[in-house]
Amino acid sequence: MACVKADGYGHGMLNVAQALTTSVDGFAVACLDEAVELRDAGVKNTILLLEGAHHLNEVAMAAEYRLTLNACSLEQLAWLGDTKAKDRPSCWLKIDTGMHRLGIAPAQAPVAYETLLGLLPPGSKPVVSTHFASADSEDPEATLNQLNVFDAAIASLGPVPQSCANSAGVMRYPQSHRSWVRPGYMLYGGSPFSTADAAQFSLKPTMCFESQVIALRDVPSGEAVGYGGRWRATRNSRIATLAAGYGDGYPRLASDGTPVQLGQTMCPLVGRVSMDMLTIDVTEHPNVNIGDRATLWGEEPHVDAVAAAAGTIGYELLAGMPRRVPRVLAD
Ligand SMILES: *Cc1c(COP(=O)(O)O)cnc(C)c1O
Repeated sequence: MACVKADGYGHGMLNVAQALTTSVDGFAVACLDEAVELRDAGVKNTILLLEGAHHLNEVAMAAEYRLTLNACSLEQLAWLGDTKAKDRPSCWLKIDTGMHRLGIAPAQAPVAYETLLGLLPPGSKPVVSTHFASADSEDPEATLNQLNVFDAAIASLGPVPQSCANSAGVMRYPQSHRSWVRPGYMLYGGSPFSTADAAQFSLKPTMCFESQVIALRDVPSGEAVGYGGRWRATRNSRIATLAAGYGDGYPRLASDGTPVQLGQTMCPLVGRVSMDMLTIDVTEHPNVNIGDRATLWGEEPHVDAVAAAAGTIGYELLAGMPRRVPRVLAD
């Protein structure tokens, strides 16, 4: 099940759905609007609402669009019961094994599962799911503990379909794969681990974020560049201005030195990122011209590296990619 929430991790949800529709059994999204957008675009795969219904009236809507809900609380389970049987969609059950964000308490899982079975058509085999809080950590203890809690909670149910693994679970915990895996970030070529880069897993980035040089100038030693004068030239410098800023999804908190690729060379970001522009030091590359294309992230630099230089994770940069940036599909 491919996670395509947050506009397909910024790639354009329908672009991703189209590319993966024959390779995956289902798509996972965060909310009803995302799911309806997929259905309206003609997506036929299973579509899971990871958080389940946000309101009673979403239950019947989910059925109308043939979506799969997730009962993550006793309240959501009650909404299913409050909806006419003919208007009930299929539904998973989510158990809180330690993330403490969503899910039914492990002790209540058997009763909740029986309740769910009673609400669904005879023969339904709802999937029991959970979510890992720390599968990206170097220390496996928390994840192994969550798996133990999960297995204990469902032990009395007999064989039921299960789903636990996010990207980090897929990559590091084969014993968590069960019936459905739910990878997100790895599908887009990112590494969920701060300690291991995507190349180590042969993951290739699916997004190449490009801009171009729109201005060039010589800045004498001692002059400052950009808002607040954060960066000051310590030699006579040549500065290129690119037409991308935080309004285009490039992180404002990127530090001086964050790599930007220009042609075959890597140039350091210098000065604060503005809303629509950023500046890089091209002193060592005299052949740079206005109109030259720059890669802000892609194969090089990797979005995880840019994120690290901005004190965040690649997930946030992808998910924050705004509409203003046109998505162009490569072959
Ligand atoms: C987003 C999400 C995933 C995917 O996580 P990645 O780290 O991107 O693989 C899986 N399961 C749930 C419940 C999620 O919210």
